[in-house]
Amino acid sequence: MDYYSSQINKLIQELSELPGIGAKSAQRLAFHILNMPVEQVEGLSEAIINARKNVRYCKECFTLTDDELCPICKDASRNHKTIMVVENTRDLAAYEKTQKYDGVYHVLHGAISPMLGIGPNDIKLKELMQRLQQDVDEVIIATNSSLEGETTAMYISKLIKPTGIKVTRIASGVPVGGDLEYIDEVTLLRALEGRTEL
Ligand code: ZN
Repeated sequence: MDYYSSQINKLIQELSELPGIGAKSAQRLAFHILNMPVEQVEGLSEAIINARKNVRYCKECFTLTDDELCPICKDASRNHKTIMVVENTRDLAAYEKTQKYDGVYHVLHGAISPMLGIGPNDIKLKELMQRLQQDVDEVIIATNSSLEGETTAMYISKLIKPTGIKVTRIASGVPVGGDLEYIDEVTLLRALEGRTEL
């Protein structure tokens, strides 16, 4: 790509490091940006920098948020005694889109995977167990139905069982290996409603 100036090359290079952006898309985006009004480009870069700098974990559920507590944990009208355990913030968003779940969440930020060397201490599991010392009626395990998701679900249910708190697992209407965020709302809702006790 030596036929571009070094600054254009730099922009293409940076963009091509984003997931799902190949060399061609990076070039297309770069030239699109170069044609944008300067104020719009400033808005875009500010949004990226602010989000990256200010977004942190909610101190209660560990989802990504820009405040100490996320809007869901702050919401007193939600049922704080039902905790749905999900692998990541995108899965949380998928369940929120159904608008039918009124409990709160716990975001693990991953799943146990012996193959990838990800153990229980590498996800937000200790934090979940700490939360369970409060008054909790039910923990709904909504990890993916992949091998890692199932391993994580079994591990968590074994940890929680001795506490006497009800542990349920979402129904397997969710396709094996399917990422929750790509599953339609009706299927998610059916999986939630058909959950079974572990
Ligand atoms: Zn939260």
